[in-house]
Amino acid sequence: MDTIIHNFIDLHVHSTCSDGTCTPEDLVSLAEEKHLRAIAITDHDCVSGVKRALSAAESAGSSVEIIPGIEISADWQGMEIHILGLDIDPWHSAILSYQEEFLKEREERNKLMAERITAAGCPVTAEEVQERFPGAILGRPHYARIMMEKGFVTSLDAAFKQYLGDRGPCYVSRRRISASDACSLLLACKGKPVLAHPFQYRLSKERLESLVDYLKGFGLQGMECLYSGYSPSDMTKLQDMAKRHGLFISGGSDFHGDNKPSITLGSGIRGELQIPYSLLTDAGIR
Ligand code: AMP
Ligand code: FE
Ligand code: FE
Ligand code: ZN
Repeated sequence: MDTIIHNFIDLHVHSTCSDGTCTPEDLVSLAEEKHLRAIAITDHDCVSGVKRALSAAESAGSSVEIIPGIEISADWQGMEIHILGLDIDPWHSAILSYQEEFLKEREERNKLMAERITAAGCPVTAEEVQERFPGAILGRPHYARIMMEKGFVTSLDAAFKQYLGDRGPCYVSRRRISASDACSLLLACKGKPVLAHPFQYRLSKERLESLVDYLKGFGLQGMECLYSGYSPSDMTKLQDMAKRHGLFISGGSDFHGDNKPSITLGSGIRGELQIPYSLLTDAGIR
């Protein structure tokens, strides 16, 4: 007899529409298997996976609630920071234009990246990568995988360390939306802007405070305090900080399937995550 009430969620999940290895349909089944009550699909710069997950959940009569989301790569003082938009309207014209514009830029960048990888001794074309990953917004993780599959590197990590990392010989930078514009864009699409994985940027405490103050000025509403690999004390620090700034607490694993194999949907790396459904009510999303 199953009398357990499952009340856990995951608000940061990637599908094959960006750089995850599970399709949006797979994610709905996986969330069901893991007894998660809700997941947010938050692909990089793309909302196509949201629509597919919503239809999959509906046609399967799934009990998993799908929260529409996106993860925007934005610029703050020359650094790349990630802003999640939770509960966004995935049909809003502003987000669709953003997606289209940045997709075109990525296509140009991918051609350059393919040329550099070829010059480094691993022949590859942008067309071939597109065929290998149908429907994905292509970026470095896909190129890393192709390099591994061709036997040019032994792991995804090695591809980044030796070639694709920010200082690597095959790296091509790309234009980013400013952090303030990213917040405005998300708000225009009824999304709630959330600062993703705040410790990933390796900022001092003071700089992180100033980033949060700055973003709050542009409508930041939440902070991702529960995150894969964060220690209990990291998570407590972030929750205190969120409360001080009047931000809601968000939590997600950043699941990417086999592209980040140590991370499990809903529970993180060592089972450190237990993200309660009540966060969604506190955030005003449910
Ligand atoms: P892109 O948007 O094409 O520049 O690719 C960025 C994505 O590559 C990030 O979202 C990560 O998933 C992945 N990535 C970036 N740096 C690394 C790294 N050093 N090792 C593994 N994955 C990385
Ligand atoms: Fe990613
Ligand atoms: Fe991120
Ligand atoms: Zn992510």
